[in-house]
Amino acid sequence: SDTVRLLSSSQVITSVLNVVKELMENSLDAGASSIDVKLDNYGLDRIEVRDNGHGIKAVDTPVMAVRHFTSKICSHEDLEHLETYGFRGEALGSICAVAEVAVTTKTEEDDVSTQYMLDFKGNIVSQKPSHLGQGTTVSVMKLFKNLPVRRQCFSSTKKCKEELKKVQDLLMAYAIVKPELRLMLVHNKIVLEGFFPKPGADYSTTSSSSPDKTFLFVNNRPVQLKEIMKLLRQHYSAQYPDDPARNRFPMLMLKITVPPSSVDVNLTPDKTQVLLHNKEAVLTAVEALLVSLYGFRPN
Ligand code: ADP
Ligand code: MG
Repeated sequence: SDTVRLLSSSQVITSVLNVVKELMENSLDAGASSIDVKLDNYGLDRIEVRDNGHGIKAVDTPVMAVRHFTSKICSHEDLEHLETYGFRGEALGSICAVAEVAVTTKTEEDDVSTQYMLDFKGNIVSQKPSHLGQGTTVSVMKLFKNLPVRRQCFSSTKKCKEELKKVQDLLMAYAIVKPELRLMLVHNKIVLEGFFPKPGADYSTTSSSSPDKTFLFVNNRPVQLKEIMKLLRQHYSAQYPDDPARNRFPMLMLKITVPPSSVDVNLTPDKTQVLLHNKEAVLTAVEALLVSLYGFRPN
């Protein structure tokens, strides 16, 4: 039954670290020489593992995430000379039971890659051609969405940071035992684009009655984010230490692009207030950009 499936899956898949480890082992089993791991919101919103391994044959894709399917052993004898990490055929199926999973894969024989969306039971619900090269990319979205208590366990920033550290340690361990393997870990990819006055060029107004010369967008939506506005103003004003007003509103534009799942836009009817789930990471990235532009950190 579905409940049994959920219970047993939640024993196999217990954490972000655990998912990353299973997916990386599949990549290594597929002979990958390069593995990229991307996490959004510490992996709770999205875990993506991309490899350049041999891919999944079209004949195997319908069953890849079906419980106890494995392409790695054919006979009982194979069990005795096992050279792969996986052989139980449990990981992908278990992950499907506790998250939303998409698998994109291309073998040497395939002309293009195919993206498969999987359901709760690991069955393919839809598929479409995609543009990736040879290898496999597994995306795991909304981990533990159906296990609120488990998800809650990972919701404190402290716990999340501990978990991220463990993922870093895991990659480090693989890097040590497999020095020929190329590994990459990206957490919270945030794209910042903007129109900023050159350092020293004063395009500002000191009148607090017209703070609306700073345009801020999150995922193409005009928004008001007090903390970011303040940060922009501080860094910009810090160029004018002798200016007593010290309250400049620069004329600039900043576009922030974050994973859609890491932002809530419906807080107010006009949707200008947004909630960034990874606000700390965004603030850090904006600050780093401002320091690189204006060269100093205001106190
Ligand atoms: P196991 O690793 O124990 O075989 P999994 O549930 O982890 O079971 O994976 C199921 C099957 O899906 C694998 O046997 C393999 O055929 C295929 N597979 C999963 N991930 C990859 C990958 N990154 N590259 C190639 N094949 C994969
Ligand atoms: Mg496996």
